[in-house]
Amino acid sequence: MANGLAQIERKRFAVIGGGWAGCAAAMRALNAGHHVTLFEAARTLGGRARSVQVILPSGESVTLDNGQHILLGAYHETLRLMQSVGIDFGAVLERVPMRLGVLQTTSWQWRNYASLARLVMGWSLRGFACSEALTVKALSQGASTRVMKDVIEPLCLSALNTAVDVASGRVFLRVLKDAFLSKRFVHAGGAYASSDMLIPKVDLSTLLPSQVAQALQSRGSCVRLGERVVSLGSIQNDFDYIVVATPPSEAARLLREIAPDWAARVDELEYRSIATVYAQAPADFFLPKPMLALQSDAQNPAQFVFTRREAKGLLAFVVSDASNWAIGEGDEIERRVLAQGEAKLGVALQPVTTIVEKRATFACTTQIKRPAKLALVGLSVVGDYIDGPYPSTIEGAVLSAVR
Ligand SMILES: Cc1cc2nc3c(=O)[nH]c(=O)nc-3n(C[C@H](O)[C@H](O)[C@H](O)COP(=O)(O)OP(=O)(O)OC[C@H]3O[C@@H](n4cnc5c(N)ncnc54)[C@H](O)[C@@H]3O)c2cc1C
Repeated sequence: MANGLAQIERKRFAVIGGGWAGCAAAMRALNAGHHVTLFEAARTLGGRARSVQVILPSGESVTLDNGQHILLGAYHETLRLMQSVGIDFGAVLERVPMRLGVLQTTSWQWRNYASLARLVMGWSLRGFACSEALTVKALSQGASTRVMKDVIEPLCLSALNTAVDVASGRVFLRVLKDAFLSKRFVHAGGAYASSDMLIPKVDLSTLLPSQVAQALQSRGSCVRLGERVVSLGSIQNDFDYIVVATPPSEAARLLREIAPDWAARVDELEYRSIATVYAQAPADFFLPKPMLALQSDAQNPAQFVFTRREAKGLLAFVVSDASNWAIGEGDEIERRVLAQGEAKLGVALQPVTTIVEKRATFACTTQIKRPAKLALVGLSVVGDYIDGPYPSTIEGAVLSAVR
């Protein structure tokens, strides 16, 4: 004992993977007094939520994101993690209160409002819970066609990245419950309602991972970029504890010998893609809101469009569950999204770049069997795919590392 406090044994931690789960695990170990080495295979931290360098049609080089992301006021663990490294929320996040108007794009008749109210009332009376077997479509039985098209389908795609006919009703209700019923998140500059949408004002690597790298380095720990850990055996003699924070398939590869059953379960996960189409509108064009819902169908792939701050007139269109388009069809998505955007917004659009992340998220279906958090002696596994209450999200990734 020193100064009445128990001395902790300072251990050497290796964290493999510098996505948001790895960053959360690294900060947790650092704050518990350990020495951390964060290994990241890429040259940039952030994983699926990282920045990328892109050249605009003007020739200017800008830092954009691997995919457009939003956070919610209900992401309490993520916001706490950001607070712990001293992030000023006002400087990096734009708060957009969630209103139905964000989703609803056409004028509604009263019976659609009544249909939506009945649906939500029914879910609320059942405590936002349902059986594991119910899909979002089954859960929404009785809803009008417009309610399905304008609210439930886009909400389900943006939250679960999975279509309503197979998406897990249970996870969908949990997301809604947290977004509408959990406490406000109070911070130095004010408070976020749990349903607030928080749109990053800076690129995703700057938003958190770079701050984590700074915290690690300033406190004597280290970050090793561009270093892929090829096997646990290659580092285990140098460390007392290893946290595997890679995407699922890589975790299964690293752990197959020591946890074959766990790896076999990971192999069964299915995935869904997301495409982000960056496009340049004339510099004097502004969206009326930071994000706008679009009507999506077989010809019009994008569900949302966002204003980007990196250049005047720069837009990001998002195609969730792009699996029908993604297989070798990047150009096709881009062509259709640009046509959709031009028709909807009434401006000429130039393509900038289209990023299709084929394994953006796991498929959050009623059939999914997510692997449990694996904790062996001297080793644990974290990541958005580990069994938990949320779909594949930043909050799910961070939660897996801090609980
Ligand atoms: C286009 C897109 C849009 C999305 N939109 C949203 C959104 O709006 N809101 C939201 O909450 N979520 C969103 N998500 C999901 C979110 O990005 C993920 O859930 C989250 O980033 C997963 O974090 P992770 O740390 O678990 O895994 P990852 O981000 O995959 O991180 C794993 C890291 O491990 C590294 N790695 C792999 N193998 C090795 C190795 N052998 N050695 C060292 N390093 C290794 C990888 O390079 C990577 O950096 C979106 C995802 C995508 C792709």
